[in-house]
Amino acid sequence: MPRATGPTLPDTLPGAPPRPDAVDFERVRERALGAYLGLAVGDALGATTEFMIPAEIRARHGVHQNMTGGGWLHLKPGQITDDTQMSLALGNALLEAGGMDPHCVARHYLAWMAAKPVDIGHTVRRGLVRYRALGTVEAAYSPHAAGNGGAMRNLPVVLATLGDRAAFVEWSLAQARVTHNHPEADAGTLLLGDLTRQALLLGGEAPVQTLIRTWTEAFPAFDPRRFRGETDGYVVHTARTVLHFFTNTFDFESCLVATVNQGGDADTNGALAGALAGAFYGPDAIPGRWLKRLDPNARRAIEGQVDALLERFPPCPRRAVTPAGSP
Ligand code: MN
Ligand code: MN
Repeated sequence: MPRATGPTLPDTLPGAPPRPDAVDFERVRERALGAYLGLAVGDALGATTEFMIPAEIRARHGVHQNMTGGGWLHLKPGQITDDTQMSLALGNALLEAGGMDPHCVARHYLAWMAAKPVDIGHTVRRGLVRYRALGTVEAAYSPHAAGNGGAMRNLPVVLATLGDRAAFVEWSLAQARVTHNHPEADAGTLLLGDLTRQALLLGGEAPVQTLIRTWTEAFPAFDPRRFRGETDGYVVHTARTVLHFFTNTFDFESCLVATVNQGGDADTNGALAGALAGAFYGPDAIPGRWLKRLDPNARRAIEGQVDALLERFPPCPRRAVTPAGSP
């Protein structure tokens, strides 16, 4: 399979793993709920302003800060899109297989596509059409595959690999490459996943600035100081946007409002910012007026999946995680 030249992943990922004794299961469970609900809330909030530019958003909404639905997809208030739906599909695949089975993941993605979702990215569609035709679970390298589709749906892998950093890397890349095969897509998926992972383990104590510095030394393109307002679906721009607004705001609400009012790929940026901020600040930081409007079926599915993933793949390092099919 042809591979890209250019940046490759470092053998040793940057960022110090958290101390095992700092991990408290109940707190992790709470933050996991914060991250997953944060993802869905960011998706639903951002879908309203997807593909708009900031001036259009200002003209139409002033500051967009309520679950109004609408947008180019004409959504109901609180309705979620592919970002949350594909995450739920991935989580269900991990639970069904008892670990990472890329075929099971691809089958769940395909079933989601077959159910005619409200939206779907080009690279995602191309990858799933390939899987349907050929049964191959890894997309061929494409210079156009540096989109954010693999990163946007990776939260269930993060939740299922809290106790095992090597599995986090392997499973993240396996699920992302079903549709996206590009070194920047790999790096963006791991960078955003790792930050969220460490925020889940350590909450507000997570050394976010140090982690961002270490990651962006290895991958300078992702440095949030390079953020210039670009918010298309290019994973480098997505990561810069999310990190820029996460590091320049002070709570969940201000982070999400700033992110989605930038427009562009606002639902995906909102979902990824919501997952990171939800892990970092916890579920109680998510505004009640947003949660109240969130699609109740999505909320139920998320709550069930968080518990099921943490039960099946315990985050405490002293309890071994043994995925099905691993040696
Ligand atoms: Mn979407
Ligand atoms: Mn999007």
